Amino acid sequence: MRFAMPNGPLSSKLFDLAKQYIPGGVNSPVRAFRNVGGDPFFVRRAKGCRIWDVDGRELIDFVGTWGPAILGHAPVTVIEAIHTAAKEGVSFGIPNPYEVEMARTICEWVPSIEKVRMVSSGTEATMSAIRLARGFTGRHRLVKFDGCYHGHSDSLLVAAGSGALTHGNPDSAGVPPAFAELTTVLPFNDEAALEELFAARGHEIAALIVEPYPANAGLILPKPGFLQKLRDITAKHGTVLIFDEVMTGFRLAKGGVQELEGIKPDLTCLGKVIGGGLPVGAFGGRADIMDHLAPLGPVYQAGTLSGNPVALAAGLAQLRELEKQNGYVHLEAIGQVMEEAVLEVLRRKGLGYRWYRRGSMFCLFFTETEVHNLQDAKTADLAAFRKFFHHCLDHGVYFAPSQFETGFISLAHTQAEMERTAEVASAALAAL
Ligand SMILES: *Cc1c(COP(=O)(O)O)cnc(C)c1O
Repeated sequence: MRFAMPNGPLSSKLFDLAKQYIPGGVNSPVRAFRNVGGDPFFVRRAKGCRIWDVDGRELIDFVGTWGPAILGHAPVTVIEAIHTAAKEGVSFGIPNPYEVEMARTICEWVPSIEKVRMVSSGTEATMSAIRLARGFTGRHRLVKFDGCYHGHSDSLLVAAGSGALTHGNPDSAGVPPAFAELTTVLPFNDEAALEELFAARGHEIAALIVEPYPANAGLILPKPGFLQKLRDITAKHGTVLIFDEVMTGFRLAKGGVQELEGIKPDLTCLGKVIGGGLPVGAFGGRADIMDHLAPLGPVYQAGTLSGNPVALAAGLAQLRELEKQNGYVHLEAIGQVMEEAVLEVLRRKGLGYRWYRRGSMFCLFFTETEVHNLQDAKTADLAAFRKFFHHCLDHGVYFAPSQFETGFISLAHTQAEMERTAEVASAALAAL
């Protein structure tokens, strides 16, 4: 079934060519639009909350390059910082001052982080944090939650997140069963399942990794007390608690979800916003754990481009600008404007779809079931979502091309764009 207007001639031509040389024509699977049907469009330029495709179509963007673009696209301060840094050299492979400044900023902003190491992606951050937790505890077993996505390393691709989910292919080929056997996947928000597992195997569990607000199966929020329960049970059993805040870190508050919820994990993974749109990740936490990393300790971890000066200059400029603009307060206000508009539209249409939001992150689930875990999220009417998505895209509003993704607001989204979006979304829901 196809609801979309065909792509412009240049996007179509580029996609045909891309498919010839790139598997599926894309460098990351969710970009292929498989979850909504139709072909992806190619982008020429992005500025503020807008993107323009190669055929000149203008869109209001709620994907924000999957999270990093919290100031909007191509903010002047970040572009200038990139120019300034790049003029001095783009990579040294020797320590540079930006690394110290970034590490200091992270340790100041995120309450639980005493020491931190920079990497180049979220995947690298979670993969390294898990090796560190295993090296630190001398244990092998890992616990994660169904619907949480932590990048695509072997130990974590056991019940894969958003992309793999809607492809109907939750486990990836190529992951050895021996790896998958060491990872236990639990339903989110289920304290009984957690207690049962830890009672049976707590002494074997090196790490429990969680997105404190799971944002890769739509947006799911923890029930009151659930995150505290994770903290208590891992502390009791000597398990390292890892908060994967690659999505939520620096997006919801200076100190991420752990600041909002008052929970101190042992290790934290960061990415996305921290790089200002360039490839940056980080993992950090308790000094006694972090000091197990090489060269101080026995856990090996390295990276040719880790702490890259241009990438860190971009990330630091973005964090400073967020601070200067009192970003989190403004994002909450813009989020509220959007929320009121959405709830009003749903009321008018008599629709019981579930809306979830925290600050600048949101998801409208096309289901009347309350969503507390992946199982609940899967009750969504995907055909209705598809139709909604294409109607919005055809009318200049770009939401993520999957029901199982979080939407992002940036500081560049203004009242005018929110009103236009509400109009378009309202018409899209009426047309279902
Ligand atoms: C995006 C994401 C990752 C993976 O980050 P990449 O930079 O894509 O490797 C890991 N964890 C969470 C929570 C994410 O949202």
